[in-house]
Amino acid sequence: MLQKSLRAITNLLGVSHGPTDERSHRFVAVIECALNQNARDAGAARFPDMNFALLELCHRYGVGMLQMPCPEVTALGPERKRLPGQSLRAAMDSEAGRCSCRSLAWEVSNTIETYLARDCELIAVLGGNPRSPGCAVHQGKDGLCEESGVFMQALQAELRRRQCNPAFRGMRDHDPELLREDLAWFEERLEAVASRK
Ligand code: SF4
Repeated sequence: MLQKSLRAITNLLGVSHGPTDERSHRFVAVIECALNQNARDAGAARFPDMNFALLELCHRYGVGMLQMPCPEVTALGPERKRLPGQSLRAAMDSEAGRCSCRSLAWEVSNTIETYLARDCELIAVLGGNPRSPGCAVHQGKDGLCEESGVFMQALQAELRRRQCNPAFRGMRDHDPELLREDLAWFEERLEAVASRK
């Protein structure tokens, strides 16, 4: 793979990256509930524990998983506390909700940037279901559109501000057929990356 070859060349030239080891230098950023369904709002969990098919795919292709904290829990707490009658979407799309998502996007982007600076490649950012107020992913003409989750929009904006423009895709686990489509899309990406040897 190109990244490993480049490291080998720079190592030969005496540029130090520290000792080499087994890591692939590849990772994907996933929403918290992909690996921990306990983060979900009441009634929204789709698995007892995690999206194991996604985890298996990452393992098969040697890709690490960066788990991003749940933006709804971060903004509103695990109970999603909000004003009487206020929808979850309205709470996340309020001034306070957007501010919390921007701050979380800044933190997550810092972590991503740290890995990128250590020669790691970000394969994709994997979000949530189409109606998730925090993590829905809907493509517009130039990036994520307004129907997307408040956190996903903030994260794309922050990453782009740092010249980082990864692919975003929702893992729509509310529907088994749509989830199969999303996993197939992701596997195609993993294949393409793995074939760059
Ligand atoms: S806000 Fe995002 S991370 Fe949190 S439960 Fe919903 S989809 Fe998962």
